[in-house]
Amino acid sequence: MEGLEKFDSPGKGRGLRVTRPFKVGELLLSCPAYAAVLSAKERGSCCEFCFTRKEGLARCGKCKKASYCNKKCQKGDWAMHKLECSAMTAFGEKWCPSETTRLVARILATKKMQKEPCVSEKMMLIEELQSHLEDEDNEKRERTEADIAGLYRFYSKHLEIPDHKGLLQLFSQVACNGFTVEDDELSQMGTAIYPDVALINHSCLPSVIVTYNGASAEVRAVKDMKPGDEVLISYIDLLSPTEERNTRLRESYYFTCDCQECKSKSKDKVKLKVRKQSDPIEPQVISNMVRYARNKIREFRALKHVKTPSELLEICEQTLDEMGAVFDDSNVYMLHMMYQAMGVCIYMQDADGAIRYGEKILKPYSQLYPPYSLNVSSMYLKMGRIYMGVERHSEAVSAFKKALTIMEVVHGKDHPYVKDVHKEMGQK
Ligand SMILES: [Zn+2]
Ligand SMILES: [Zn+2]
Ligand SMILES: [Zn+2]
Repeated sequence: MEGLEKFDSPGKGRGLRVTRPFKVGELLLSCPAYAAVLSAKERGSCCEFCFTRKEGLARCGKCKKASYCNKKCQKGDWAMHKLECSAMTAFGEKWCPSETTRLVARILATKKMQKEPCVSEKMMLIEELQSHLEDEDNEKRERTEADIAGLYRFYSKHLEIPDHKGLLQLFSQVACNGFTVEDDELSQMGTAIYPDVALINHSCLPSVIVTYNGASAEVRAVKDMKPGDEVLISYIDLLSPTEERNTRLRESYYFTCDCQECKSKSKDKVKLKVRKQSDPIEPQVISNMVRYARNKIREFRALKHVKTPSELLEICEQTLDEMGAVFDDSNVYMLHMMYQAMGVCIYMQDADGAIRYGEKILKPYSQLYPPYSLNVSSMYLKMGRIYMGVERHSEAVSAFKKALTIMEVVHGKDHPYVKDVHKEMGQK
């Protein structure tokens, strides 16, 4: 923890600040997970212990479900995997705890193993994590109750489950402090708890970015920092306009942001850019279209796992047509829908479609996101890989290079993802 200290951040509670200068790209903090769980959809493609994605993983001989790099990873994971190994076999198709429930089971098991907490170099203990139990609405409470039911159903054989009040507290802590572990293309690999990283407060103008190396979190500077500067990450997608960012922050984290960008709203105008027309578009028409866009985005999220890919693509195209009458192509709602459409095209292995959307997204993305953004690097990476797949090598190399400019800062030059991209660039 050299160069960092815990402090009371005015109006924000606990926070983290630097005690020496840090340069862009410098590592502030590397934090192994207190508890981590690989998403069920990644089962078989990634190692359950170190989250490495590769071919030829070896399956657990008992459940034939969990996969590992080698014996060492399997041994390392056993204390956690044993919570699920026999239950998965016993329940078969009916085994369906939520990812949150799975993570909570692992936290409870870890707590029990570490009866005497080692306080030496840790800044935060799991017990100290913030919770917002009293702020939760009924919908959230119902979800937690369902998760708790899952905990009793699938884990009671292996765990001493605390009383109801203690459980509600723990689920609330996980909701406010859990991190989604994402790969180089920002696809979710799992969920984890990093108590020290959870100390870091939010800003829409962050000074650091969190990336994942295996199941560990790494925090690197994306701005030069001087002693006394607070360490700030973004908890949310920074593409959204101010009002929407704050709705999201209030819904998930129970606060309103007062960073410089939230005060000045300097990027909102370009984010909500409307089409140039001879007669200016009425404000009423614009706000109606914003409402339409938000509804469509919510609807799309709900339909994503129900409709077929071609139906989804049709929804995207229709929505884009409708919005395109008012919004410019660089408007964030257009970008959001194009991003969804690109994802569907990738899924359908329609390279031309994916490239068509990707090329429209890239330029506004680089302008609207901060200079070092994982959203931008992952977009270049996706494009590089698609171009490579259709043998457009020079375009692939140019996209990979742009991804690397960002990744070498936010992931660090020695990160396995950076090495992978160098390798991919060399392939013809
Ligand atoms: Zn492994
Ligand atoms: Zn097993
Ligand atoms: Zn803000």
